[in-house]
Amino acid sequence: MTGFSKVVMDAEQAMSIKYNTLVYELQRRGTKVTVMSLGEAFFDIPLLSFDDLPHPQIFHYSHSRGIPELRERLCEYFRSEYDVPVDPEKEIIVTAGSKAAIHMAFMAVLDPGDEVIIPEPAWVSYPEQVKLCYGKPVGVPCTVPTDDLERHVTDRTRVVVINTPHNPRGHVYTKGELRHLLDVAERHDLWVFCDEAYSDFVMDGSFVSLGSIDREKRRAVVFNSVSKNYGISGWRLGYVIANEALTFQILKVNQHLITCPATILEHYVARHFYPLLEITKPQIRAVLERRDALQRSMDEIGLQYLPGAATFYFFVSIAPSRLGSEEFCTRLLMEDHVSTVPGIGYGASCDGFVRVSVGTAPLEENRHGLRKIKELIEKTR
Ligand code: PLP
Repeated sequence: MTGFSKVVMDAEQAMSIKYNTLVYELQRRGTKVTVMSLGEAFFDIPLLSFDDLPHPQIFHYSHSRGIPELRERLCEYFRSEYDVPVDPEKEIIVTAGSKAAIHMAFMAVLDPGDEVIIPEPAWVSYPEQVKLCYGKPVGVPCTVPTDDLERHVTDRTRVVVINTPHNPRGHVYTKGELRHLLDVAERHDLWVFCDEAYSDFVMDGSFVSLGSIDREKRRAVVFNSVSKNYGISGWRLGYVIANEALTFQILKVNQHLITCPATILEHYVARHFYPLLEITKPQIRAVLERRDALQRSMDEIGLQYLPGAATFYFFVSIAPSRLGSEEFCTRLLMEDHVSTVPGIGYGASCDGFVRVSVGTAPLEENRHGLRKIKELIEKTR
C-alpha cells in the first residue's frame, strides 16, 4: 500500500476500543451482551445546570492551559486529597482527555529512536503512542518486579511509564516502589510518567501520587482525568501536572493540536466541581464493593487473576485454555455474548489473560460473565 505513513500503518488499533466496537455492532443488531469490556464505571449522575455558565465566553476558545477556574479546582484537589503542591499558573495543562495529555508529553520529551520502558500489562495506548512519536517502546514482561526495571535502561531510555492504580491489574504502587523508580530516574536522567486516571478507585487509602514524593517534579509527570473519577469520559477532559519547563513544552504541542478543550465543559466542571465529587464518591465505593464481591466469586469458581484490589478491572488468567486471548475473547463474545478484552493488547507477555471490567454491568450479570469465562476455559483446555 502506498500513500500512508509506515509508522501509522504499523500502529495497532486500541484493543479495548476494537472489542467495544464489536459489542456496539452486536447490540445494534438486537443481541443482548454482558458487557465486561468497557473502560469505565457507569454512575448515576444528574445533569447539573448549564444556565449560569458564563455566556458568551462558553462559545469561544479558552486559555490553552485550560480555564483558570478549573485549573485552580484541580490543583486544590491535588493538594488536599493527594498532598501534591501544584501551581495552577505554571504546572498544569487541561486538555482533551488524559490520553491526549500522555501523547503530548511523549512528543515533548522523545526524539526519534528514544526508548520508553513500559511494564506489562501495559495500558493499550502507551506503546502505540511512543511509536507514533518515532520512539521505541520497551515492554517489560509481567513477571518482572518493579525493582528489576532498571536492568532495561539503556543510554536511549528517556521515560518509564507506569499506571497507578493499575488498569488492568488493580495494583496500587506503594510509596517504596515509587521512590525506587524516582531513584532510577535520578541515576539515569529519566522522566517517570505516572498515569493516575483511577486515583479515587482505591478503598483503603493506599493511593500515593508520584507528585507527593517528587514535590518539585524533577522527574515526576502526573496525568489524570475527569473520565473515570467523575464518570464523564465522553467530555474528554484530562490534564497533566509537570514542572514549569516541561509544562511549557507540552503547552506548545497542545496549542498546535487542539488549542484548548471544549470551553463549555471546562466551565461546567469548574462550576460544579465539588457537587460532582459528592455525587460520584459514594458510587465509586459501591463499584469497589462490587469488585470485592466478584473477587470472592472468582475464588469460589476457581478463576485465577493477578493480585490487586483497586479499580474495577481484573486481569484474569485463561490458562490452561489452548486458545490465544484474541480467539478466546472473540469466541466468548460471539458464542456466549460476553465481552472482555484480549490480554495480548496489554503486551506480548499477556496472551494468557483477558481483561474483565466490572464497572458497567450489575453484579449478577458480571457473575454470569465470569461463569462463562470459566466454562470456555474448561471447554478449550
Ligand atoms: N490511562 C488509563 C490507564 C486508562 O485506562 C485510560 C482510559 O481508558 C486513560 C488513561 C485515558 O483516559 P481519558 O483520555 O479518558 O482521560
